[in-house]
Amino acid sequence: MSAQQHAEALLDYIDASPSPWHAAQTTANALNNNGFEELLEGDNWTLKPQRRYYVKRDDSSIIAFTVGSNELAQEGFRLIGAHTDSPGLRVKPKPDTQQGAFSRVGVEVYGGPILATFTDRDLSLAGRVHFQQNGKLRSALVHFEKPFLRLPNLAIHMNAKVNTDGLKLNKQTELPLLIAVANEQLKNQPKIIDLLATELGIKPDDISAWELHACDTQAGAIYGLNNEFYANSQLDNLASCHAGLSALVSDASLNANQFNVCAFFDHEEIGSNSHKGADGSFLADVLERIAGSLSISTENYKRALSNSFMISADMAHAYQPNFPNAYEPDHKVLVNHGPVIKVNANIRYASNSASQARFIQLCEQAGVPYQQYSHRTDIGCGSTIGPMTSAQLGINTVDVGSPMWAMHSIRESAGVIDHEYITRVFTQFFS
Ligand SMILES: [Zn+2]
Repeated sequence: MSAQQHAEALLDYIDASPSPWHAAQTTANALNNNGFEELLEGDNWTLKPQRRYYVKRDDSSIIAFTVGSNELAQEGFRLIGAHTDSPGLRVKPKPDTQQGAFSRVGVEVYGGPILATFTDRDLSLAGRVHFQQNGKLRSALVHFEKPFLRLPNLAIHMNAKVNTDGLKLNKQTELPLLIAVANEQLKNQPKIIDLLATELGIKPDDISAWELHACDTQAGAIYGLNNEFYANSQLDNLASCHAGLSALVSDASLNANQFNVCAFFDHEEIGSNSHKGADGSFLADVLERIAGSLSISTENYKRALSNSFMISADMAHAYQPNFPNAYEPDHKVLVNHGPVIKVNANIRYASNSASQARFIQLCEQAGVPYQQYSHRTDIGCGSTIGPMTSAQLGINTVDVGSPMWAMHSIRESAGVIDHEYITRVFTQFFS
């Protein structure tokens, strides 16, 4: 597969994953196609060597792993971590509001999106719905492909300083999404609950609750004079999930005798502190149960953790030449120049010299260039899942990611060859 075909496969993966619940399902579909068996957390696990499994928690976090025949205590687990969620707008429980002649949908801000980028986009909704059917509670994913929502910008004639001061939006009053002209003759104008009921073929009264994400309907695209860039929503962090997943299902990984693990968590964008977030018990529970099911003693399980290594994969801030002062001048990382190792002395990233050295060795073995990133010292640095999982499990970890532009915009972009590069390093790790 060429680098461009691999990037196109990533764009298809993202287009099929308009919400974290869809991202976990798209991942599960790919795992099913590659001989992985689904486990349920509530079942008794009887794992067998040389088999592959995955388990979801609450529909939007997913851990997939191969069971090797090597001795786990000595080999440890090889883990790649990433996250399934992206910042954006979430529909409120009672979303239907009317302002003058217009019907609007009330939304809440999830994480830290660049709100201005959500204006003038062809938006729709995706997520999951819980409902009752014949007395039983059920859930289903929904994805409306029709763009029926919009946040029209204010014309520059009423906002003359928008190009000097930027667009400032009041989150309560100026974010509701426009959905329809309110027609007073139509007393029973359809509400969000009616749209969901029609989509699912159930009665509105059967619907109990939902989690819905405002998604962009524009498909991903390859761009650039030489097709060297790609753009889509949610590159942070579905690009890392796709790279990890591609490595896990590669022949090199499936034929290896080791314990390869991909752990993709929801809730990273809001701090990871939830029952399915990276700061919760999910990963520890799964690793412990793998060991337990293979009758590995506590002593040998602790040895395995000590011999494990984790690559925490999340996107990195690529240098944008129009904003030179935003970057640490000696640590500019460039699109299409290879994976980025993220370093922060205050452990906002988990990397240390030992884990960096191991990742550099992997890059060299895979024939892939690498870059090192340090944030400007005079502005606050972001964080990711690496510091939490490594603290909880005691597993040495490196924080890495592909360089990208416009992190947390609804339309992010990155480099085609970088996706190929990082997938090659991950495949080296899993082989
Ligand atoms: Zn991220």
